[in-house]
Amino acid sequence: MAGPTVLVVEDEEPLALLLRYNLEAEGFDVETVARGDDAELRLRESPPDLVLLDWMLPGVSGVELCRRLRNRPETATLPVIMLTARGEEDERVRGLAVGADDYVVKPFSVPELMARVKAMLRRAHPQIVARMLIAGDLELDRETRRVRRAGREVNLGPTEFRLLEFLMQSPGRVFSREQLLNGVWGHGVYVDERTVDVHVGRLRKAINRGRARDPIRTVRGAGYAFNEEFSAAP
Ligand code: CA
Repeated sequence: MAGPTVLVVEDEEPLALLLRYNLEAEGFDVETVARGDDAELRLRESPPDLVLLDWMLPGVSGVELCRRLRNRPETATLPVIMLTARGEEDERVRGLAVGADDYVVKPFSVPELMARVKAMLRRAHPQIVARMLIAGDLELDRETRRVRRAGREVNLGPTEFRLLEFLMQSPGRVFSREQLLNGVWGHGVYVDERTVDVHVGRLRKAINRGRARDPIRTVRGAGYAFNEEFSAAP
């Protein structure tokens, strides 16, 4: 399965391109449509996971389109984030009144918009939560097998990926080397316990790269844990 799909309805081409670029960098599948009426037709086919909807559009306006989406059972609960221009405060209220789930004001900060998109998807599609393991600035996508730190892709070998996934699933829990061997390499596989240290070392090197905060905690005489405080502190 591909990543979550976002439909961008925006008639300003540079902005549509900027959104596409950033959403794709986050692992989303992106479609862009420049007209409200085209978007309405597109949304009658198969609904995406989320819509970024510009306020002022040729064809059918964003507000009118949002109202129509809410009136159709197939799209009544489709997550919609409206993009509005500065100084349209009254219209923002109207946007929410017609059923938009959220709005951002242009010119917006791209990281903030990405954070809102992700937060909304987590609320609307809990299966994406199961798919994504997120702690602090670290994200692991089980389906695409991708890991990102602060939005930048981290290249991990398959063992390091499984090791990180295993640790992130149980933040705070300390695993012995033997437990890690069983959980990551599999039962009955003979690997020296020092192999665990080697792979933890590689994993740390890849995900930390000059960063001060290490999400993996070494517990002397016990093993390793994903530091549960990593999510909380900035
Ligand atoms: Ca526009």
